[in-house]
Amino acid sequence: MVATNMIKRCVCCNSVYLKRVKSFYKPPKKEPDYKIKKYFREIYKCSDCGNFHNYSKVNMNKIYENDYSQISYGTNLWNKLLKI
Ligand SMILES: [Zn+2]
Repeated sequence: MVATNMIKRCVCCNSVYLKRVKSFYKPPKKEPDYKIKKYFREIYKCSDCGNFHNYSKVNMNKIYENDYSQISYGTNLWNKLLKI
């Protein structure tokens, strides 16, 4: 997985119309505790296909691998997170 500093395009439909829908400055309760002090995460939603993307300033390459292997980042989970 390539580390990107900023989401520019939707990975699903290649749309550039990504809208920031939520920022997290501490881990959502439903996420595993990563022991990260300066937690920062932003959630973007693709205006075209409706997919959610997450962006973090923390170098989480390794964590991301765990993320994607252990957690289903489907629309349902994001919907739950966004309701907090
Ligand atoms: Zn899309």
